[in-house]
Amino acid sequence: MDIATEPSFRQSVDLMFNRAAALLDLPPGLEEKIRVCNATYIVRFGVRLRGRMHTFVGYRSVHSEHKEPVKGGIRFAPVVNQDEVEALAALMTYKCALVEAPFGGSKGGLCIDPRAYDEHELEQITRRFAYELIKRDLINPSQNVPAPDMGTGEREMAWMADQYARMHTTDINAVACVTGKPLEMGGIKGRVEATGRGIQYALQEFFRHPEDVAIARLSGTLEGKRIVVQGLGNVGFHAAHFLSTEDGASIVGIIERDGALWNPKGMNVQCVRDWIVETGGVRGCPEGEFIADGASVLEAECDILIPAALEGVINMGNAHAIRAPLIIEAANGPITAGADEILCKRGIVIIPDLYANAGGVTVSYFEWVKNLTHMRFGRLQRRQEEARHALLISELERLSADRGWQLSPDFKDRYLRGAGELELVRSGLDDTMRSAYQSMREVWHGRRDVHDLRVAAYLVAIERVARSYRSKGL
Ligand code: GLU
Repeated sequence: MDIATEPSFRQSVDLMFNRAAALLDLPPGLEEKIRVCNATYIVRFGVRLRGRMHTFVGYRSVHSEHKEPVKGGIRFAPVVNQDEVEALAALMTYKCALVEAPFGGSKGGLCIDPRAYDEHELEQITRRFAYELIKRDLINPSQNVPAPDMGTGEREMAWMADQYARMHTTDINAVACVTGKPLEMGGIKGRVEATGRGIQYALQEFFRHPEDVAIARLSGTLEGKRIVVQGLGNVGFHAAHFLSTEDGASIVGIIERDGALWNPKGMNVQCVRDWIVETGGVRGCPEGEFIADGASVLEAECDILIPAALEGVINMGNAHAIRAPLIIEAANGPITAGADEILCKRGIVIIPDLYANAGGVTVSYFEWVKNLTHMRFGRLQRRQEEARHALLISELERLSADRGWQLSPDFKDRYLRGAGELELVRSGLDDTMRSAYQSMREVWHGRRDVHDLRVAAYLVAIERVARSYRSKGL
């Protein structure tokens, strides 16, 4: 393939699917049924703003309904188009299957530059878009449950949830119609950090397997590893922040819209984020040296590269120049199918998007369950758990008193504290990321015809979706 034949995002996802499907023995026709996008709805609607009517175009694609509701974010960006939304919806199907979130795959998008509108205008536009989707059951707690994505967050989800509630005044599960809501509107602790947290847990799990680390021509742990992150949005920021403050990794490069920062000694990610929020870019930030040609930093020497922004940033034009031996795809589709082939041939290990960034939808799943149970996790058991721990501690203290032994106060405090919602969410996410990695890894090492983690991830996912179709008799 040359650069002129670089596949589109949707073609890339299909090519990756095909590479894996070719290794499976699926009944005739089933492969195609799984690959194709079931439906894409295009809505065009008008909103009166600044004295005139403005027409907006929005999409909601439903890739696979082998499980319902279908799930996936809604992005607000000027470049949103049908091809992209369908590719993202397909990724959601495979992602949910891989992490065992019981959903089909969907995705939505609105062609808009959210920075061009004030908050009140955005609310009008979002509510109107939500209205169009809700009346077609494309937002519905039992059929289609959106979530945040690029350009959207808690605020937009709150507007959508409220819009749904207004249109379904007697639906007791109305609040479960979208996830990623603010806490006071039925959200869950740990959802905002979830995708970045998932990247951290994925890397921690990868580094628990020295043989896998060796394939990436690395050794040891995350401690001291030099990381370049592209995009310091919600996902990139949380991943880089946790990896540097909790795992001892060093963030040596940060690439943003206006350029990049470089500092071989490592940067304070929170300070860079604050700078971006204040000034709109990284230029002038004292944390690192400013490099105007931001994209060149993708090719810098480092141990781990984290593309956490747009799709297609690593393509046939720069894949030859990438020097990181390990790439973890925090964004959806940051590596094109053409680049993927080049990188794999060069022995670069890629932890693929459908696994790596599944932390978001995993915690969305917890939020949806929380909404359906109408109760926060841990509410019933926390104090009871603490009381039982206290009982054990007092018995231990009684027994050790005659021997002059003493429990360390730190142990006592930590042992006595029952888990609240945030601890439970993190533990559920960690468990999910570990087991999904292990299921991929088994295929990666267990089959001679599988040479990389992406094919392994697709194999696991496609097999699960196929099983679900088969048991339904379709
Ligand atoms: N937009 C996120 C993703 O691409 C989250 C989807 C969700 O939580 O449903 O995975």
